[in-house]
Amino acid sequence: MPEVFRNYVAGQWVECKSQKTFPNINPADTDEVVGLFQASGPADVQEACDVAAKAQPGWAALPAPRRGEYLFKAAEILESRLAKLGEDMTREEGKTLPEAKAEVKRAINIFRYFGGEGARQFSYQIPSERENVFCYTMRKPLGVVGLITPWNFPSAIPAWKMAPALVGGNTVVIKPASLAPLSALRLVEALHEAGIPAGAVNYLTGGGGTVGNTLVDHPAIRAVSFTGSCEVGNTLYDRVARRKIRVQLEMGGKNPTVVLKDADLNYAADVLVNGAFFSTGQKCTACSRAVIERAIYERLVEILVAKTRKMKVGNGLEPGIDMGPAVDASQLETDLKYIEIAKQEGAKLLCGGNRLTGGIYDKGYFVEPTIFGNVTPEMRIAQEEVFGPVLALMVAEDFDDAMRLANSARFGLSASIVSRDLTRVHQFINGIQAGLITVNLPTAGVEYQLPFGGTKESSFGMREQGPLALDFYTETRTVYLKYTQ
Ligand code: NAP
Repeated sequence: MPEVFRNYVAGQWVECKSQKTFPNINPADTDEVVGLFQASGPADVQEACDVAAKAQPGWAALPAPRRGEYLFKAAEILESRLAKLGEDMTREEGKTLPEAKAEVKRAINIFRYFGGEGARQFSYQIPSERENVFCYTMRKPLGVVGLITPWNFPSAIPAWKMAPALVGGNTVVIKPASLAPLSALRLVEALHEAGIPAGAVNYLTGGGGTVGNTLVDHPAIRAVSFTGSCEVGNTLYDRVARRKIRVQLEMGGKNPTVVLKDADLNYAADVLVNGAFFSTGQKCTACSRAVIERAIYERLVEILVAKTRKMKVGNGLEPGIDMGPAVDASQLETDLKYIEIAKQEGAKLLCGGNRLTGGIYDKGYFVEPTIFGNVTPEMRIAQEEVFGPVLALMVAEDFDDAMRLANSARFGLSASIVSRDLTRVHQFINGIQAGLITVNLPTAGVEYQLPFGGTKESSFGMREQGPLALDFYTETRTVYLKYTQ
């Protein structure tokens, strides 16, 4: 019988009011139910928000460095369980074990980084125009914040929202994705064991429409941080905007890697394979378009296809696997649908293109890493996010053409360039429409201590992670203090 996991409300592990659960299925072996999770409804959300509102003044009254200490303790607990938590993540999400462990490590680093923010939380002291007046700003928490997270980074994203929210003095209600709720639960478990006061963190599972909508509508919620698809994010924005509360949306991407003719082609192919296919292409920052100068196109394609064909696809718990499955049947269907669309649009299939079947493959949602050549900017495969291991190659006549192609999508999350030409690299950095820019590195693989976020339709609101994260979770108060009368 699979383990039943509960919601965490007011410091207690509780069943939802309907007592109904839903299964979390291993996408590499659909016979395995990783766990049963609470199918919460509006009344559960209501209660969690009320609890968080009641707990907030007490939590905010703790000195910020003491709030940070709970994050440090939770980080210790998570570190002692890293291997097990990595396995949990591979079983619920499908990414390979090394990728999963690296993500848990990142969540631990995030807890430590924001634990340290407890003792920083810098603000400004600014000179006054008037005599004997001392002016400064201070940070105040917002209140209760609602956090809604996706399945693809099921530990890191909940961590990078919860940690700054908490250290900033807010209480939290978090709803993780239904496809991978266990990894976020493990973070909450660690905070619980670290002794965090009851009501500071509240965790609920259940359908996005039900839990998510009730959460953002609750009057106690003073800010919403969402990561997920553009479709849901845009709808959520309309809902939240009516309440004039703070909102942060991190959504899709169609991230390009530009390869210039001076590049080391073997190196460039490695950058593309990593960016496009690691984590089964299910990263918001994954590379889904390669823009390649004509002079090197054919030679690079040859190397890239050879490397891609060598990738081992399988259950991420097995050693030596390069790429796990799609997260569920629906994502697999989307991958295969876009492969068909690309063929019909006239793109040239260079490798992959099929669902993998036979043996262990029949138990999971496995698809081949796939590359299309001769892609042009008006094709759907060049414009729409697939969120799977499908890479579209586009030919550029020269650098200006490469910039035009790279900027031709409505998204602007991450972008990279492979080149040793310093002038071109700087021109790329200045001209590319993306929030995250990498040079001679894949489009994915960002670090927690730097700000994260995109431009155009990828993101809305303030940056996450790094020193800017607290700006979203705190409000600035300005003080003018005259110390004479
Ligand atoms: P999703 O379907 O939009 O779901 C994201 C979260 O929203 C889940 O917790 C989901 O709950 C919830 N939700 C669904 N409908 C809702 C509603 N009506 N109101 C409130 N919440 C609702 O996205 P996903 O499939 O999990 O994740 C993949 C997407 O996330 C991709 O587009 C990817 O690019 C994007 N992403 C972006 C970033 C970034 O930082 N820019 C990072 C990672 C992923 P259920 O799971 O219960 O449906």
